[in-house]
Amino acid sequence: MPPRPRRPAVAAATSTRASEAVPGASPASRSKPKPRPEPTSPGERLGLRSDWDYALHLPLHYIDETRLTAIAALREGHAAVVQARVVLAEVAGGVRKQLRVQVEDASGQLELRFFHFYANWARQYAVGKLLRIRGEPRAGLFGMEMVHPTCHVARADEPMPDRLTPIYPAAAGISQAWLRKAIASARARLDAHEWLPAALLAQRQLPDIASTLDMLHAPTPEVSLATLQDRSHPAWQRVKFDELLAQQLAQQQARARRATLRAWPMAAQRGSQSLTRRLLEVLPFTLTPDQQSCVAEIAADLRREQPMHRLLQGDVGSGKTVVAALAATQAIDAGFQCALMAPTDILASQHLRKLADWLAPLGVQVAWLSGAQARRERAAALAAASSGTSQLVVGTHAVIQDKVNFARLGLAIVDEQHRFGVAQRLSLRAKGGEGTQEPSAARSGQPVREPHLLMMSATPIPRTLAMAVFGDLDVSTIAHLPPGRSPVQTRVFSDARRDAVIARVRELLAAGRQVYWVCPLVEDSEVLDLRNAEATYAELQVALSGDGARGEGEDARVGLLHGRMPAAQKAQVMADFACARLRLLVATTVIEVGVDVPAATLMVIEHAERFGLSQLHQLRGRVGRGAEASECLLLFSAPLSDLARARLQALRDSGDGFVLAQKDLELRGPGELLGQRQSGLQALRHADLQTDTALLDAAREAAIWLLRHDPPAARQHLQRWLGGRLDWLAA
Ligand code: ADP
Ligand code: MG
Repeated sequence: MPPRPRRPAVAAATSTRASEAVPGASPASRSKPKPRPEPTSPGERLGLRSDWDYALHLPLHYIDETRLTAIAALREGHAAVVQARVVLAEVAGGVRKQLRVQVEDASGQLELRFFHFYANWARQYAVGKLLRIRGEPRAGLFGMEMVHPTCHVARADEPMPDRLTPIYPAAAGISQAWLRKAIASARARLDAHEWLPAALLAQRQLPDIASTLDMLHAPTPEVSLATLQDRSHPAWQRVKFDELLAQQLAQQQARARRATLRAWPMAAQRGSQSLTRRLLEVLPFTLTPDQQSCVAEIAADLRREQPMHRLLQGDVGSGKTVVAALAATQAIDAGFQCALMAPTDILASQHLRKLADWLAPLGVQVAWLSGAQARRERAAALAAASSGTSQLVVGTHAVIQDKVNFARLGLAIVDEQHRFGVAQRLSLRAKGGEGTQEPSAARSGQPVREPHLLMMSATPIPRTLAMAVFGDLDVSTIAHLPPGRSPVQTRVFSDARRDAVIARVRELLAAGRQVYWVCPLVEDSEVLDLRNAEATYAELQVALSGDGARGEGEDARVGLLHGRMPAAQKAQVMADFACARLRLLVATTVIEVGVDVPAATLMVIEHAERFGLSQLHQLRGRVGRGAEASECLLLFSAPLSDLARARLQALRDSGDGFVLAQKDLELRGPGELLGQRQSGLQALRHADLQTDTALLDAAREAAIWLLRHDPPAARQHLQRWLGGRLDWLAA
């Protein structure tokens, strides 16, 4: 049976390294990222350091080399081990040189063929030598043959292995033989005494750790290979349980640690002069019930003396910004500063515009911080943040740089939080500022005060995943879009029908609408034959000239926006599109998040097959923001992979971010769904959150029990499983 396709364990291991390379794992540290030196040993390249790391590097599958097969009994396509003597070895010429080795046992002859070989192999496999050969036989011209079998010269009395041979996840240049030896010697050094209470294991019918490792690394031939390979074997259950238990323990601990932290409580001011009240009065809409309950949950958090640690999730366009603004007004009303950080210039400046529109007329001082801004402007913003004159600071990563100091930061808001790493969130939390600490006389022994933290995400996370990964996070959800939105009609077109799509664009432009046209890459790539934004821009300018895309003799009304443009130019293009000076915007995925132009009612996405499901959904969320019916046309170029087809179909059939997130989870596994340096997930190399939910429940129960009744075992378990990776679970 072939091994079940899984998230590649190797990739998981290396991405764990990447996340560890992010410094600032403790809130106090503000050092710049120092890349770790390139790992040198083969083990390190797989993310293996301690003996336990090696012991827990588990096989992908196994091969049975415990029995010899007679040549006459070989079956085509069935891998087998043969022991036979060389009767002929020659390098055959022709267009491609090959090494042919004819071997013979008591039952018959077999031909081995090598197209890649070293010159000395012909000598090594000389006539008369006894070889042990493993390979997959196929029918050749002259009977059975094996192409590129593994073989070695065998002693006549060489014993057969009595265990199945494990095949480990490896990487280029790392041989199975090396891995087997390294893992075996690590296991020999290991103290594999059971550390979990016997009762806990017995109750869940899980084997002890020593027999688990033995079973997984060196199963005896009578074990059902099927249960090993589909990972339903009790030994696999134990490994997955352990992994989930470690994660649940870490989360419980993080929660306990967080309970010792302090923030300043911010009483909700509802008086008529309060900012919150005045903002509610000037809003051009009323909050939906979902928004109201999110606002209430956040307000209650802010009133507590413990720092808020909450995720506000809601589909694209669900109206998270106003909820964030109301959190900000509560903080400002209470005399604190608020910082809002977003991953891109475009998104951050959208927030700036929206928040400034709402809050500046109410007298709130808003500052803007971005890597792209002019030095003088930046200096002024920094001064306003550190003196406390600006009550709200909006920006990109620039907000968390060393030079940025706040006088009295009480609330930090992070939009599209999955775009940020753990270290970045931590450094935001460490920016409270002198004004938020106790007066120095009273400070000794007082806990450090941290700002409250509100994270926002438009990638809705399915419940099981949220529970597993964010056990230590409170979640508020905006489940329904504001009223008056018409659903976006989505259609899928082959690139062969590009003309029809362009015709539709022309039609809508003539009717006075605005259009997004999204392309995946900016410049021609040698590798991928992608239409690039610039070429498309030129193409559409020509195709649409003279019929509505141009104003009366003015500039063309087609704009281009891509990631490599200077920030100021990007901002100008966005502003032109927002005020309809530009009618068609050709853009790369820089518009992916946060852009809000309600008059745009059509989005064309080129090479939709190259995008991920949630990315497509996010993109599509840019239209359907007004009352007008909107549509999204997904252009693909054939042939479509099954996965890409499934994605496009899912998108066509559903506009619900939660449904699509669930679908995405099914199609891709949780790793990608949560983004790069997401907490905890990299730790899950064995368990599968879709199929192992029962184990997850058991692990959570066990974690609570262990922390209460056997803290040393809990500590040992965490050390074994997570080792140095504990820090980033806490963020
Ligand atoms: P997202 O959750 O994607 O950040 P936004 O906060 O940008 O969404 O909101 C999307 C649009 O919906 C904005 O134009 C916003 O002003 C509008 N909006 C937000 N809440 C409501 C509401 N309760 N009623 C009507 N429109 C709303
Ligand atoms: Mg938003």
